[in-house]
Amino acid sequence: MIYIGCHLSVTNGYEAMGKTMCDFGGNTFAYFTRNPRGGRSKDIIPEDAAALNRLLEEQRFGKLVAHGSYTMNLCAAKESTRLNGLDMLEQDIQRMEFFPHQYYNFHPGAHTGQGAEKGIELIADALNGVLFPEMSTTVLLETMAGKGTEMGRSFEELREIIDRVELKDKVGVCFDTCHVWDAGYDVANDLDGVLHHFDDVIGLDRLRAVHFNDSKNPCGAHKDRHEKLGQGYIGMEAMKRIALHPALQNKPFILETPNDDEGYIAEIRTVKEWMEEST
Ligand code: FE
Ligand code: FE
Ligand code: ZN
Repeated sequence: MIYIGCHLSVTNGYEAMGKTMCDFGGNTFAYFTRNPRGGRSKDIIPEDAAALNRLLEEQRFGKLVAHGSYTMNLCAAKESTRLNGLDMLEQDIQRMEFFPHQYYNFHPGAHTGQGAEKGIELIADALNGVLFPEMSTTVLLETMAGKGTEMGRSFEELREIIDRVELKDKVGVCFDTCHVWDAGYDVANDLDGVLHHFDDVIGLDRLRAVHFNDSKNPCGAHKDRHEKLGQGYIGMEAMKRIALHPALQNKPFILETPNDDEGYIAEIRTVKEWMEEST
């Protein structure tokens, strides 16, 4: 089995997201730790955090996958942007401890013309500055589509970042199916091959969460436009094979498909039906 859920809004607090996901029929979720376009994060009320933690345990949720801000660019050429990103990362990582043992996922960054080598160095330096031995969170680098100067466009790039991180046991990868497809990995026709390659380069033990999206563009397009399950170029049969792949079991799968609540509820139901059929 896999854990399934979608992105939720933190507007009504943390426990409220857990309740909403129960209503949606899922058992994991993602939320932005702050406004995805930057800005402040919502204050965490300790009682609200504790109530969510209780709900997660009672309802046997899989790990949550909190998402860092899109504006956080740890390898920007502009120093003020980079320092701002570092601030966000440090605060987010501290705040994650209200929710012990969950995942914190973020986009590695865009090197904005400095070159991939420099990007790798800056991202690893950032992580080395904020990760601490006692933290319970695992930080997940997201696989990216390779738009512009985006980092994380290949498994090799992610591997190079991880290689330079001192506290390696705090770091994993979030596998975004739309992004890897757009980056040129054919998860529709050669899923085994792609996962085998991931294992060779990074190690499947580092693959901790999946962003479960179809793509509006063909493989290798480097576009990053998500599509509803089965309505994009990856297609429903391939999405089903991904959800049922033995190497991806017991992981949280987060839908980031362009949907309203009803659409998410329907996709969660579809994934649960696949799991029931397969047992
Ligand atoms: Fe993302
Ligand atoms: Fe994603
Ligand atoms: Zn995306």
